[in-house]
Amino acid sequence: MSIESRTRAWVEIDLDALRANFQVIRQSAGAEQGVLPLVKANAYGLGMDRIVAALEPAEPWGWGVACATEGLDLRAAGVARRILVVTPIPPGEEPHVVEARLTPSVSDLGSLERLAAAARHAGTPIDFHVEIDTGMGRSGFDWRLAGTWGAAVAARAGPLRWTGAFTHFHSADEPEGREPSREQWRRFEAALAELPVARAALVVHAANSAGALRWPEPGADLVRPGIYLYGGHAAPGAADESPRLAPRPVVAIRARLSLVRDVPPGTTCGYGATYTTVGSERWATAAIGYGDGLPRSLGNRGWALVRGRRVPIRGRLSMDSLVLDVSDVPAAEAGEIATFVGEDEGERITLEEAAALAGTIGYEVLTRLGTRLPRVYLEEKGA
Ligand SMILES: *Cc1c(COP(=O)(O)O)cnc(C)c1O
Repeated sequence: MSIESRTRAWVEIDLDALRANFQVIRQSAGAEQGVLPLVKANAYGLGMDRIVAALEPAEPWGWGVACATEGLDLRAAGVARRILVVTPIPPGEEPHVVEARLTPSVSDLGSLERLAAAARHAGTPIDFHVEIDTGMGRSGFDWRLAGTWGAAVAARAGPLRWTGAFTHFHSADEPEGREPSREQWRRFEAALAELPVARAALVVHAANSAGALRWPEPGADLVRPGIYLYGGHAAPGAADESPRLAPRPVVAIRARLSLVRDVPPGTTCGYGATYTTVGSERWATAAIGYGDGLPRSLGNRGWALVRGRRVPIRGRLSMDSLVLDVSDVPAAEAGEIATFVGEDEGERITLEEAAALAGTIGYEVLTRLGTRLPRVYLEEKGA
């Protein structure tokens, strides 16, 4: 469907840029390492099926998801590659994990036993990876105790195949993230050395987008990028490294102007009437609101682009619309396009800029984009 037929608001996704960003990650990680794109949360809101289809020809090692349901959806769509579930499996979901031949990550012995029982029951010996907690604290076996749990995991794996081990950096995207990441890698290696399984028998991985671009660990077998693929800066706070860590933009968030009019001094707008005009202004109502996932915190703070000019958001966002001050673009008319993230006539609002104004991060802006916004995929013909 063409953008012209989208009458209200939509998200544009540049699949060529997505593929280009994948290649940058691959080159940074080096030929020895595989790439596991994270496509959790509907590929950060961009549409898991289309993202997977676009990256499939690049032959990633597999796909990373956050929960069994996402893995089942991929299998239902015909995806044959490995699917790693990167968060712990809640009790009760094990039969689905086994049936869909997902690769769960295991953080405790109870979960391992339940998975092994499900695999035995189904007669399906799936692979699993062990997560090792080196400081993230949300999941994983304690790195300090590998000498104890390592043997127990090997003993209880039963019909499951222990094929991988990973950890997760907590500060890879921080300006001063190098030392904490080094320390986490050191802990991870110390734990690996305690395991009763030969390191060469395990697929070992740690780096997210920032790790893969800033300090690709030569001892690893895989990198696990997410945000950078989708056009998010890998380390927004590390300004000095910016050019290298800035992806090709992938996402644009756009809406139509539904109404344009001049308002006199003393006019208020939005719930709470938090904005009042001093002089006359020209206002445009844009057909997008927080009900589409645009952060409500952009009220009286955010910007849009109209005809390549920056125009401020006035007042609070409503669920379905918001008001822009287009006084600097007096020719703007209803039906024209306002851009909240993305490029317009040479001007750009980056994902990080919009996220920072909203008091959040690009990840949250993307993953909150609502189902009411159609995703429009752009790519060169024949690409
Ligand atoms: C989401 C996630 C990633 C991807 O992180 P980005 O910062 O988006 O690159 C990698 N590994 C794990 C375990 C994750 O949960």
